[in-house]
Amino acid sequence: MAIFAAGITTCPLCKHVIERGNDTVNFPPLFLNQHHDVFAITDAVVHRACLKERPYARLALTKLAAYERRRGRPKVCAICGEVISDPDEYFGTGPLADDPAEPISRLDWFEAHLSCLATWEGTSGLIRDLLEASRNEDWEGDALPLLAARLDELGASKNG
Ligand SMILES: [Zn+2]
Ligand SMILES: [Zn+2]
Repeated sequence: MAIFAAGITTCPLCKHVIERGNDTVNFPPLFLNQHHDVFAITDAVVHRACLKERPYARLALTKLAAYERRRGRPKVCAICGEVISDPDEYFGTGPLADDPAEPISRLDWFEAHLSCLATWEGTSGLIRDLLEASRNEDWEGDALPLLAARLDELGASKNG
């Protein structure tokens, strides 16, 4: 979550300090694609009024609501179907698409045990899909290559 202090933190949209009592929206690191304007409010507190002026306001609030609905829910491994209770065993792609219409949305919130991924036949395909999406001209930033690298490491430790 964004670190926020009334009277100190500035709104990234208007660059003004957020005062106590201002109507604000707090965004977790939810927007990963630096190619999109909405990246400006990832992991940030913004004035609600400033947000409303932006063309991406609706998408941003929809994505935030979807994120909050997931919070506190058990994470289920897409490979074995069991709940992932050990955080050290967790791999998740997280919220990749800013708009559900983006093709990358099919990789949103893929979650699995690291131990399942290490032996799963689909892991190399997932790595390929992540890297392919990261080379798309509509994607900017290192979120996708980092996810692919993490999966790659699993294979490396398995093979040697
Ligand atoms: Zn503002
Ligand atoms: Zn599993």
